[in-house]
Amino acid sequence: MIVILSNKVTEERIAEIIQHIEKHEVTTHLSRGVDRTVIGIIGKASPMLAEHLRQLTGVEQVVKISKSYKLASRDFHPDNTVIKIGGVEIGGDQLVVMGGPCAVESPEQIDEIARLVKASGAQVLRGGAFKPRTGPYSFQGVGVEGLVMMAEAGQKHGLLTITEVMTPEYVDVCAEYADILQVGTRNMQNFDLLRKLGTIQKPVLLKRGFSSTYDEFLNAAEYILAGGNPNVMLCERGIRTFETYTRNTLDLSAIPALQTLSHLPVISDPSHGTGRRELVEPMSKASVAAGANGLIVEMHTDPDNSMTGDGVQSLFPEQFAQLMLDLEKLAPICGKRFDSKKELVCS
Ligand code: PEP
Ligand code: MN
Repeated sequence: MIVILSNKVTEERIAEIIQHIEKHEVTTHLSRGVDRTVIGIIGKASPMLAEHLRQLTGVEQVVKISKSYKLASRDFHPDNTVIKIGGVEIGGDQLVVMGGPCAVESPEQIDEIARLVKASGAQVLRGGAFKPRTGPYSFQGVGVEGLVMMAEAGQKHGLLTITEVMTPEYVDVCAEYADILQVGTRNMQNFDLLRKLGTIQKPVLLKRGFSSTYDEFLNAAEYILAGGNPNVMLCERGIRTFETYTRNTLDLSAIPALQTLSHLPVISDPSHGTGRRELVEPMSKASVAAGANGLIVEMHTDPDNSMTGDGVQSLFPEQFAQLMLDLEKLAPICGKRFDSKKELVCS
């Protein structure tokens, strides 16, 4: 249930209304929007409580919400969530690009890629230290040492960093080294991991499970939000369909659909979404046109020899730099801003 307050309601009155509600063994969530202030109620709110609230001064409307996720829904939080990390704002009018290799391989590799990512105008360095591989004999990532290498490269080149965390036990160490923690598609419903991420404040990029519905996806985000961490962004990274030409089918509709259902920022991953280098540029642009708040794109200086199989979907540095130049032109048409630094990078 949500309680929509009238425009001129005072802070004092809001506090009184919240007190009224909390007498009924439910919890409340206050959202002060630009246009309206909303109190969300979580728990079993009786029809009698709804009737009672309708009578109170300062209450404009009481609406029943049937969705199972609450904190993730736009009903509870009408304004967009904007996650601020350093000078970067994710979810507002800034287009945010996260670029880098699938996996951190060596200090030299991540340092050089970080330099190229920065020179192209992207704001965040991506790279996995722990890799969720389909087969147990494939390269599993360099581990904690990779976190250190990435943090050093990010710091040296003035980039934020994002890395994947696979288990609750590693959340604290990943949070110590990285600015954003990524939950991979295979872990979208790893509820213990989600619960643990709810106990910290570090921003989380939650990837959509490759066969999950929007409802399941938003319920997964709800686990993190319900734990007390409001800094969640959603990532569409493609879903499994009958098509085999592409690695996954990037569901572009998910971008505006999730933004309608939720206030959380939506990031698109055209690399895993297509699995093909030549499709990354057009699908990046299509994602921005569809309203994405940002992109996460794989780029490698030597994709043919990358340690995961994701070289085939990694852009070469000059392709990445050209994409950033194009995004600078495209972003304003889509209501966003992006500064490519106007430097073409050659490796
Ligand atoms: C990745 O970002 O390298 C990755 C493994 O992504 P996903 O979980 O979407 O497959
Ligand atoms: Mn990858």
